[in-house]
Amino acid sequence: MFSSMIAIEPVSRTVNLIAGLRAVLVNTKTKYQSVHIVELEEFGKALILDGLIQSTQADEFLYHESLVHPALLTHPNPKKVLIIGGGEGAALREVLKHPTVNRAVMVDIDGELVELAKKYLEVMHRGSFNDPRSEVIIMDGFKYVDESKEVFDVAILDLTDPHGPEIARALYSKDFYLKLARRLSHDGVLVSQVGSSFFFPNTYQNTLNSVREVFNVVREYSIWIPSFGYACNFIVASNVHDPAKLSASNIDNLLRERNVSTKFYCGKVHTAFMNLPVVLNDFSRDFDK
Ligand code: SAM
Repeated sequence: MFSSMIAIEPVSRTVNLIAGLRAVLVNTKTKYQSVHIVELEEFGKALILDGLIQSTQADEFLYHESLVHPALLTHPNPKKVLIIGGGEGAALREVLKHPTVNRAVMVDIDGELVELAKKYLEVMHRGSFNDPRSEVIIMDGFKYVDESKEVFDVAILDLTDPHGPEIARALYSKDFYLKLARRLSHDGVLVSQVGSSFFFPNTYQNTLNSVREVFNVVREYSIWIPSFGYACNFIVASNVHDPAKLSASNIDNLLRERNVSTKFYCGKVHTAFMNLPVVLNDFSRDFDK
């Protein structure tokens, strides 16, 4: 919700984040969601979908580096990567930093949003849509996974939250993870952003249980994202590779060997990810039905 010069963003059912608003660049409704692209006083450009902040110029690197690199380094030689969601193109940008990648397919349901991102959010995609290794497919991710015959080394689910808009909910289910597992190589790696375990503990636990029913190795981690107002949770899974087995020096060596530059993610961060406990708030359970 926007009034005069503030943006109010729901964090949970009863908690909101209020941010100073400098300008509204886009205010529209696509076939799938309301889309605002705004300038926030202390976060810069921001993408807001159905009232929920998705990414801001100031801190999106925290989210996208945390989403992409642990999975791409857990797989020893990721060549083909699938991104489902990822509308603003920042996850794609991070994937393309890995020279092992020769094909990155981004499947987003909302073509209008992707075109708006191309026009207004160059600061996030930085031309990743034009990379010859990229292919953008406008389609429901669930349908794509059901119909595609392609097999990938890494699948990245960069979707709206599991507790958020209806359009992404089915992509946090056991049924979807079973279908997605068939689109992964035998040693494939899956990573998904899963919103907030603190404010949506039941939703988080259900999603975690669904992943655990499909994959043998499942690890959880989280990172505080100032513009979200909470620590964003991630779940990474595989039937072969274990990110927790990679030491800080393994990660730093891999980043150096692949010449992947990051603003935040490194070996020490990876070790912290794999050791910091996930926090669920019992007081939020009644609000997370
Ligand atoms: N980076 C954001 C964040 O921090 O949570 C999320 C990435 S992005 C903005 C979320 C994307 O998921 C949007 O572009 C939306 O169109 C896409 N999406 C939602 N439901 C989808 C579905 N069923 N299939 C494919 N894309 C979907």
